[in-house]
Amino acid sequence: MKKPICIPGYCFLLISIAAGQQPPPKNPIVAKIVNDVSAERIKVTIEKLVDFGTRHTLSDTVSEIRGIGAARRWLKSEFERYARQSGGRMAIELHETLVPASSRVPSPTNVVNVVATLRPAASSPPADRMIVVSGHYDSRAGNPLDATSDAPGANDDGSGTAVVLELARVMSKYPFDATIVFIAFAAEEQGLLGATAWAERAKQEGWNVEAVFNNDIVGSSLAGDGTRETGYVRLFSEAFSPLDTGRVFRQRVSLGLENDGGSRTLARYIKEIGERYNPNFGVELVYRLDRFMRGGDHRPFHERGFSAVRFSEVKENYDHQHQDVRVEGGKEYGDLPKFVDFEYCANVARINAAAVAVLAGAPAPPKRVQILTAHPGYETVLRWEKNQETDLVGYSVRCRRTSSPIWEKSVFTSDTTISLKVSKDEYLFGVQAVDREGNVSLVTLPAPAGR
Ligand SMILES: [Zn+2]
Repeated sequence: MKKPICIPGYCFLLISIAAGQQPPPKNPIVAKIVNDVSAERIKVTIEKLVDFGTRHTLSDTVSEIRGIGAARRWLKSEFERYARQSGGRMAIELHETLVPASSRVPSPTNVVNVVATLRPAASSPPADRMIVVSGHYDSRAGNPLDATSDAPGANDDGSGTAVVLELARVMSKYPFDATIVFIAFAAEEQGLLGATAWAERAKQEGWNVEAVFNNDIVGSSLAGDGTRETGYVRLFSEAFSPLDTGRVFRQRVSLGLENDGGSRTLARYIKEIGERYNPNFGVELVYRLDRFMRGGDHRPFHERGFSAVRFSEVKENYDHQHQDVRVEGGKEYGDLPKFVDFEYCANVARINAAAVAVLAGAPAPPKRVQILTAHPGYETVLRWEKNQETDLVGYSVRCRRTSSPIWEKSVFTSDTTISLKVSKDEYLFGVQAVDREGNVSLVTLPAPAGR
């Protein structure tokens, strides 16, 4: 007989759950990856990037010691170092795009992203599912067209680039089910040009980019007004992309799913997994594409319908962003390494590492999740298609009140149908696929059956 389970803290009476099935524990490999993230390594990376003087997109590309060309050749060599421990699974590419003249690019310019792609196995093509983790390696001074002055860019975005490199370093030895793409984007400061080129390429190629983790300004805990925050990072997400329109979109909004578009679902996932593996560091969900009236490299992905979010520190210091390096009125301006909190930046990297590793190790999100009872009823019946992965052990069925920002409850089943004594009138539901290592997929929100 199938017995109902009540997971501590979750007071559901369940029907049709196989007795004895429980969600698997934390994945020890993910815990090891998180533990391997080093603030010292991040410091070394940021200081090295600053040593190139400027990494402005229009700066010197020939010099071996100064300018964006030297910086990207160094980034490529770092990725190649990490690739050597991947057993032939990591490939490095300079992704080049000749962009036309625009307001911040006076003449056609070669924009070069540095890309490291980690496949599940050396012999296999890239997996269908792709997870992107990014930062931008270009920098700028006060004038966005100034390609020669020092533009250290320690925090904007040496910090995000260091997060990407550090993840490549600690993850490249392990196999994952999905392809992980580590990208240092160029020309963010000139109008998100590198990220736009790669996002457009992903769209044209039909790549299944399941998630984009963009890190931009993630290295400081002290604001210009003297306030400090070391305990959490902000995670920006817009609910729906501009492509979400029409009848299906209207129905989703009318069902109270206005906080469950792809990018926001990803943000909620990162908060949950990131905090699970890093109990002493938090993720604050911000329901907005980016900081007020500002933007970043996740935007071109989000606008093309990919789930994409941005990490940024809580306490920004505007004296250090987009400033010429100088002392004025006794105050120091400029984006210098001495203003970076490397341990804070490492904590942001640890949140990224946990969520990227779990997601890349997880099965694909369940397909065709439906709520069966379209008419009034006392139970909520969910049904979905069975996943094909051989290491799948079951599904985590999630539930939250319509006004709750995060999933509040979860129950595990090895079945593909579940009946919950919870009213679909007051709750939102979702289903995640779970594998035997404890990796969980993104949540799939159900559609009303037959609609
Ligand atoms: Zn930036």
